[in-house]
Amino acid sequence: MASFDRESILSRLSNVPGPDGAGDLVSLGLVSDILINGGKVMFSITVDAARARELEPLREQAAAAVRAVPGVESVLVILTAEKKGGSASAAAAPPPPRSTARPAASASGKPGVPGVEAIIAVASGKGGVGKSTTAVNLALALAANGLKVGLLDADIYGPSVPRLLGLSGKPQTVDGRTLKPMEAYGIKAMSMGFLVEEETPMIWRGPMVMSALTQMLREVAWAPLDVLVVDMPPGTGDAQLTMAQQVPLAGAVIVSTPQDLALIDARKGLAMFRKVDVPILGIVENMSYFVCPHCGTRSDIFGHGGARHEAERLGVSFLGEIPLELAIRETSDAGTPIVAADPNGPHTATYRAIATRIAAAISGGTGVRPPPRIVIE
Ligand code: ADP
Repeated sequence: MASFDRESILSRLSNVPGPDGAGDLVSLGLVSDILINGGKVMFSITVDAARARELEPLREQAAAAVRAVPGVESVLVILTAEKKGGSASAAAAPPPPRSTARPAASASGKPGVPGVEAIIAVASGKGGVGKSTTAVNLALALAANGLKVGLLDADIYGPSVPRLLGLSGKPQTVDGRTLKPMEAYGIKAMSMGFLVEEETPMIWRGPMVMSALTQMLREVAWAPLDVLVVDMPPGTGDAQLTMAQQVPLAGAVIVSTPQDLALIDARKGLAMFRKVDVPILGIVENMSYFVCPHCGTRSDIFGHGGARHEAERLGVSFLGEIPLELAIRETSDAGTPIVAADPNGPHTATYRAIATRIAAAISGGTGVRPPPRIVIE
């Protein structure tokens, strides 16, 4: 147990003047995402992106103020940018996040999303392995298993959830700032694809991406949900790592094809989530084998079974295998994912079995998920 709390952090920060010398960081509502893990503290200060470099001394001042709190061992302060109107993408994006006044944080973790029981990430080491297809079908399978499910498309650069769910149009706002999620096949969904025109070039800098993700997480009327599935952007770079840190994840599902290369990438995915102490719920092998639609012969074109062996070797659960199947691709392209299109079919049964394993893993047998821990280097 830390000898200090969120209030003692806020109290120190209320002595730090705002970016223009007037007011203080707390009363200006610029402090958010306070995370406390043992003696380690992390928080964000919202600033104008154009002034980020100029405001570096402010960041240091805030860090020093918190470091002076008895019991604090290390402090990480992040300057996050508010989106400014003007650019094409920013103009169409939802309003900037409300600053302080976050929902109550769990004692040691980052704040959850009120009314959302568990948030899980679906991730892959590289693109093209069927991560989004798997995320969408797993979300629908969790819903078919009786859970209230949402799907957040965190792939800001290449959002595919609108297409996969056959959704178009723009989300409505509930009260002028909270967005109502779109709905398809009984699940709620939110994607940057709903908020910007398809032709809008997505050249976003890191802080903008984080801000967009924060909004899609916290400024959307998700509740009540049992599970929010986050379709992560492919890869394991800094952007993905930051995202994994930004979202209070109950766990991560890694999608991989059986090919060696993809498995090597999957290992990077595992390492990334381990670095931020997010539990790995397991690996799904996608495009695992091919059944000829004409003769029924099964071919292991990518060397089936690689993910299962790899999972065993790495000591993570193997959640199941999805075949390479024309119907899965065709239904995805048509915006009617196979779990919705063929609720009694064999592939739906497979996705539902995987969903059952995931639900069991997040409830951890106790129904209580441990708060995520953040490692501050
Ligand atoms: P990622 O999100 O990893 O980039 P996608 O989900 O967009 O991958 O899938 C890439 C392509 O592969 C899509 O055309 C999709 O329809 C197809 N696909 C994904 N999984 C399967 C599968 N199990 N069988 C057949 N096609 C698949």
